[in-house]
Amino acid sequence: MQLIDIGANLAHDSFDADRDAVMHRAANAGVVQMVVTGSSVEATQRAIELSRAHPGVLFATAGVHPHHAADLTAEALPALEALARDPAVVAAGECGLDYFRDFSPRDLQRRAFAWQLEIAAKTGKPVFLHQRDAHDDFIAILREHRAGLPGGVAHCFTAGEEERDAYLELGLAIGITGWINDERRGQHLREVVRGIPPDRLMIETDAPYLLPRDIRPAPKSRRNEPAFLPWVVRAVAAARGETPEVVAGYTTATARAFFKMGSDPNC
Ligand SMILES: [Zn+2]
Repeated sequence: MQLIDIGANLAHDSFDADRDAVMHRAANAGVVQMVVTGSSVEATQRAIELSRAHPGVLFATAGVHPHHAADLTAEALPALEALARDPAVVAAGECGLDYFRDFSPRDLQRRAFAWQLEIAAKTGKPVFLHQRDAHDDFIAILREHRAGLPGGVAHCFTAGEEERDAYLELGLAIGITGWINDERRGQHLREVVRGIPPDRLMIETDAPYLLPRDIRPAPKSRRNEPAFLPWVVRAVAAARGETPEVVAGYTTATARAFFKMGSDPNC
């Protein structure tokens, strides 16, 4: 199986001590390529540096997470756009709206989101989207900008059929994390994931977050990492009545086409 983790926060400081070992375990688990999430200007710079150090294996996104939306000023925009144009960057974002935590005021979240959709349109890169408890505003802003966007993926999708269908109607792809491995809060997702066409479905760990709950033995650190992506594949496969190999095949093809990645040079 060749897998692509489309959402790994590998620039996160929880990987500072053993990042090389984490990457080796990922490779041994069949995770041949990873998209390193940029969630702030600084994290984006680190994601780009990591990607340059591992060409063809790591790729970066360039964006500001809604939690940090208040930090994205009009003055900071040209620098973010320049980062988005970097050849190592395969998507704009992570950007969107998060009204669950409300770490940044909502009006600033909406402004930062719209700005980053403009960057995606200007740079011709697809957008890596985050949304929590903000569906109506999120869809309204996306609709306004949709015509100029080359594409988008709703990452870490955890919602229901209605939101799934709204995203699919807008032409978005959907990213599934280990949320689906959770026998309690992920139960509904096992039904919802069946309605996503293979050419719109991608998989991600969102490491170091969202450790799949069914990993045995459970890692003592509770830290998630890309090597655990096969657990997500197996949960998606079980939910859809497919083999893990089939799910691996189309999610990898979908990710390569969406992010315009070449094949891993080491394979
Ligand atoms: Zn997110």
